[in-house]
Amino acid sequence: MLLSRRGLIGLPFVLRGSTYLVERRRAAVMRGLRFLIDVARNPVHFEDYATDLMFCFYGLAEATSNEEMRRVCWEVGRERAAYWRGKVPVVPAGAGPVTVSDLVYGCLSADGLGFPNPAMKEELARRAAGMSAVQFLGFDPLREGPPADIPKKCKRCKKWSVRGSRQCFQCKGKLTMMSRYDVFFEAMLTAYFGERYGIRLGASFGDVMRWVPSLRPYVWKGRKLDAAFYSVAYTVTHIVYVSNDYDLRRLRREDFPAEFDFLAGNLRRCIAGKDPETLGEFVDSLLVLGMEESDGLIREGMDYLLAHQNADGSWGDARDRDMYNRYHTTWTGVGALMEYKWG
Ligand SMILES: [Zn+2]
Repeated sequence: MLLSRRGLIGLPFVLRGSTYLVERRRAAVMRGLRFLIDVARNPVHFEDYATDLMFCFYGLAEATSNEEMRRVCWEVGRERAAYWRGKVPVVPAGAGPVTVSDLVYGCLSADGLGFPNPAMKEELARRAAGMSAVQFLGFDPLREGPPADIPKKCKRCKKWSVRGSRQCFQCKGKLTMMSRYDVFFEAMLTAYFGERYGIRLGASFGDVMRWVPSLRPYVWKGRKLDAAFYSVAYTVTHIVYVSNDYDLRRLRREDFPAEFDFLAGNLRRCIAGKDPETLGEFVDSLLVLGMEESDGLIREGMDYLLAHQNADGSWGDARDRDMYNRYHTTWTGVGALMEYKWG
């Protein structure tokens, strides 16, 4: 017999998939996952970030080609989804657009993990139908592109003032405006998750995405990684994520030339700025757009992440008290080093 049973099973996995430091990456990914599992199983942290943590495990389980990783993500995701469904059985009485959007995000993952709640879905659809694009997205993409006159929350008294305000309505403090990229980023994710779940949150995904060309080219002139850089960078990486349902498929580079150029042109800045969170997003986004693991940029990014994982399996500042930063940076580290079905 020329091919053993093992050879037959192993062959497809030898011919495709990851090529760079595969064993080290697998080990790092599993350590990262263990950190994420500890966060998700902590009742306080789960209470704060339930919907995001469920999507983390659901999305990773769907995207990975590694059977062990898929099994672990699936088991933990299902356990957390069952727990969440028990804690949040109905749509709360005065739920506004932010709560409705967040519940849609959570229900998408809980359903996908095998714990649907059809009555809740129906109620979410009913509530969402009574709310406008401006309420959900901050602007109506059927009328205009992402605007530049939506004020940020007041730094002094933490209140939100209405669009166009230059002064806080409460304390009269000076307000700064959200960048168009930040406004677009939030609207894009809201519309995307709504559409993916089957509930329109103010506008269709296509209505929002038709404004992408108005954001190109992605220009950033700073030297240090500042807020303006992050506004552009996260918009670009998430245009990639919503275009392939969070790493489920490769995308054609020719459809995203401006995004590719920005990512390739700035990856080294993330390394120089010691920012594993953004670096992680750049690596998987470039792979999705067809950059090979043999490319020097991808290898530099992976080398940095492999060399800077914390002892507890996380990435980023291990002393940071903000748990969102801790788990999100770890999530993007896992995303950069894991093996994908399209790999
Ligand atoms: Zn104020």
